[in-house]
Amino acid sequence: MVNKVAYLTKPKVFEICEEEPPELSDDEVLVEIKHVGICGSDLLFYNDPTVGGELDTKLPIILGHECAGIVVKIGSNVQSIQVGDKVALEPGISCGKCSYCLEGRYNLCEKVNFMAAPPFKAGALKRYVSHPASFTYKLPDHMTTMEGALIEPLAVGIHASDRGMAAPGKSVLIMGAGCIGLMTLMACVAKGVTDITVTDLFDNRLEMAMKLGASKVINGSREEITSSSRYDIIFETAGSSSTVAMTPNLIRRGGKLVMVGNVHTNVLYDFNTLNQKEADIISVFRYANIYHQAIQLVAGGRIPVREVVSNIYPFNEVNQAFDFAFNKKMASLKVVLEF
Ligand SMILES: [Zn+2]
Ligand SMILES: [Zn+2]
Repeated sequence: MVNKVAYLTKPKVFEICEEEPPELSDDEVLVEIKHVGICGSDLLFYNDPTVGGELDTKLPIILGHECAGIVVKIGSNVQSIQVGDKVALEPGISCGKCSYCLEGRYNLCEKVNFMAAPPFKAGALKRYVSHPASFTYKLPDHMTTMEGALIEPLAVGIHASDRGMAAPGKSVLIMGAGCIGLMTLMACVAKGVTDITVTDLFDNRLEMAMKLGASKVINGSREEITSSSRYDIIFETAGSSSTVAMTPNLIRRGGKLVMVGNVHTNVLYDFNTLNQKEADIISVFRYANIYHQAIQLVAGGRIPVREVVSNIYPFNEVNQAFDFAFNKKMASLKVVLEF
């Protein structure tokens, strides 16, 4: 058994190394990874591992956190998972002991070890990954490991829709139709929301939004985003300061603005308008307790998560895959690596 690991050795350069597979502790499973999705955060660190000097990242690091595969070995305490199971891995391993973990909001755990995130202690761009059984979820037979890898970004969309209390009868605006915008859209559709407007700057993404259940799309590069009745819930998924700045005008009185995208710049924001509407701003950080639900929604045919995959590359072409995903952001909705 030889492990193959893709190390980011310099910005925008991966080298694949062969090494021993990881040791397995009693509570872990060894998973042969089959699919890994490339996420916006992977591209951020790929381009600049220090994120403009914000982080003290020491190369090499291993990226990748949206992953699924087949269990090839289990630790002696593991009972929930068997060898041969098809599984999705939840990439954030929280401590299980702090007040956040005990409250069930383990996404806020300060000791979380999240794959491909600072301090980069783990990553999924490798053939064999050892992972706690408690964060490993069995997929039903008819689900693919490709769909399994997409459970991670879908979990973000479902968590965002929960935080915004999306429900039938609400009017929803989703700003940004990238992967997370579309995942949020599918989560809202699965919850029975029928009035969903999606905005983006690219027509191909908006076409996909229509296909996935949006009731209206607006290309912000040509049309102004307006609504006479305004929106009960706005999901900002573009991570853009200019879309965020539009939200006080677009939101309905008593509405909710859910911040899903990561905005890396300062925003000039009209809090006065927001105050007069008594609207809420809600932030979103990853997710907690969502994987079972996400897997069931996909398995039951309620969420066609596979639709967002635009390109599939073999693992050996990790450099080409990231290059494409980074430079062709418009065409590459979701690039997935396959073993
Ligand atoms: Zn992700
Ligand atoms: Zn904790």
